[in-house]
Parts: sequence; structure tokens; C-alpha cells
Amino acid sequence: MSETEPTQPLIPANLPESVADVRQKGDAVGSAPKQSSSAGELKRSFDSEEELERRQYRYYQRRQLRTSITLFLLTCLSTFVVGASFVPLEYLLTMLLPRYQWFVRFHLGGASLEDWLAEASWRGFTYSAPLMSILLFHEMGHFLQSVRYRIPASFPYFIPMPLSVPGTMGAVIFQQQGKATRRQLFDIAVSGPLAGLIVIIPVLYYGLTLPTDPAHPSVPLFARPLLIKWMVYWIHGPQSLPDTFINPVYLAGWFGVLVTSMNLLPIGQLDGGHILYALIGRKSHFVAYLIAAVAIYGMIFQQNFTFTALLLLLFMTGLKHPPTENDKEPLGLTRHIIGWLTLGFLFIGLMPTPIQTQKPDAQEIEIPLPNQMQEVPDEV
Ligand SMILES: [Zn+2]
Repeated sequence: MSETEPTQPLIPANLPESVADVRQKGDAVGSAPKQSSSAGELKRSFDSEEELERRQYRYYQRRQLRTSITLFLLTCLSTFVVGASFVPLEYLLTMLLPRYQWFVRFHLGGASLEDWLAEASWRGFTYSAPLMSILLFHEMGHFLQSVRYRIPASFPYFIPMPLSVPGTMGAVIFQQQGKATRRQLFDIAVSGPLAGLIVIIPVLYYGLTLPTDPAHPSVPLFARPLLIKWMVYWIHGPQSLPDTFINPVYLAGWFGVLVTSMNLLPIGQLDGGHILYALIGRKSHFVAYLIAAVAIYGMIFQQNFTFTALLLLLFMTGLKHPPTENDKEPLGLTRHIIGWLTLGFLFIGLMPTPIQTQKPDAQEIEIPLPNQMQEVPDEV
């Protein structure tokens, strides 16, 4: 979900017949024209090189698009399989190994293998489809704004992660550094979380109106930030929902809130880092260091490792935000209001301890989610 900006240009210099080669040739033509070339010939050669450059760029873009679509489909698959508690893979295994089929039939009791597969697949689909829609909307928010401002950016790359609780690590977009002005940077950064929220709110609402999923009972407890508490109150009134409430649609919306709030942390090149830099410039570095210090304090003194991986990534890519193409461009009142309100989402969406294991008194619960869920330490 985060948007990072590589120091390398988006077009690698070593492509055969690459844009870089063509540029070099173009420079050579420009600096030392051949004696025999007439002005017309020079013009034609320049045109054809421009054309070659365009073609090479289109070729590179098509290749990027293919990678992006492949990763998107793989992430759909990994979130589906995780949402279905790996049952589709187990089903394939029963087809290959008769002994394993006997084992599964024994555990299923009277239920047929096909019903078992269909029920799990439905669960996988109702988890994967809303979650992928949330991530796709978020990334397209960034991407379409980049296209609008003609800022060189890659297509979104989704990260499949079947051996993780959500089944994905979100997505990234690579954007060329220092090309966007202050206002463009702001618009590109703010559009992702806001576009994601357009899907998150209805998904959460719908998830909260559905019954709790008996196959997804309560081993881990999913924290409820203020936003979700308000929605629970809005839908269910004063009678509160049990802590163990869970179903695939709700879980998808819940991950949407988690990913959006973590991306809005105003550090480095996260969405929040871009937004705060656009709002207050270099003063945002102080905020970034302060948040990093709080996260490190939590890690050392409270054994809370929620933000450890995020911090490592941020230390590698830098906590400070690089300057924009024009830092002095005014942002305007509307953007200031939208920016602070978007960052304000942290107060209603951030979860310092997103997942907790079940209290020791509730025992008789079957394994709800993939096995990895069991390995989550007390405080993640
Ligand atoms: Zn983002």
C-alpha cells in the first residue's frame, strides 16, 4: 500500500536498444551532427529516434503491466486460499493422496468433501473480493492521480503472502523522486487512502450486519478502533457485539482499516509521510522521528512488535521525506483541511495492538483461520 520512490530511474539503463541508449544516440546527434546531413535528414533521424523511444517506452510499460496483473491475480489467489483456511489446497491433496482423503473424511464426520470445499471457497471468496477491492481502489487512487499529473509511476504491484494472516502485504507503487510539486505530491498521496475508504466503509457496514461465522470463531481477538466501535453502535445500538464477532466480509474491512491507518503514519515515504510533508514541509521530519521513537519505546518496554517490520523498512528507505519539485507552491485552504482530516483518521483507525490471542478461559474452539493465525504472539 505504501508508495515508495526508488532512487533509480523507472527505466533501467541496460535495456537492449533501450530508451537510455536512444537518448544517448539523440545526444550524439544533437552535439555532433554529421557534415553530410542536411537539416531535413537530421529532422527525420530525430523523428525516428523519438518514435523508437516511444515504442521502447510502450514495450516497457506493457511488460510492467503484465507483471502488475500477474501479481494482482496471485494476490487474489493467496487471499482466497487464506480466507478459505487453505481448504482448496487440502482438497487437491485429497485427490492426490487417498490416505489423506480418509483422514479428512474422518474429521468431517458426515459432511461430504464437496460441501466442505464449497463452504470454504465461499468464505474465501467473500474475504478476498472485498479485500482486493479495497486495495485496488487505494492503489488506483494513487495511480490515476499520477497519470493525471504525468508523474512517472509504475503500475501497482500487489504482494501475495499466503503464509500470513491477511494473505497479502498490500501493494506498492514506485514513483520517480522529486518530479511532483508540493500540490501534486499531496493529491497523489491523499487519493489512495480516501479512495480505499470509499470501499472500506460499506464493506465494514455490510460485514457488521452479517451473522458471526461459526467457522471463524474466536481464537484471535481483532482490536476495534474508534471507527469500528462507532459503526457497531450505529448498526447494533447500545447492545454491544461480542468481542469474538467475526466473518470474512468484516475481516476484509478490518484489514482495510489496519492497512490504511498504518499507511497514514506520517513517516518517510508512507502516504502519511507525503501528506504531512506537503502540509508542513521539513518540520514533518521532527514528527517522523518522534513517532519512530514512540514505536521503538513500545517495542522495547511494552513488547509490542506491531510496527517492527514497518520501522525496519522505514529505516532502510529513510524517515525523512525528500524535497518536492517545488516546495514553495501554495497548497490552498481546501487541501489543508482535507490533509489534516485524512491524517485525523489515525485517531479513529490506528490499532497499536491489532490482534490479541483469546483469553485463557475460552477453550473449546476449533481452529478458525489458517494455522499461521495460531502463531501470532500475545501482542502483535
Ligand atoms: Zn497508499
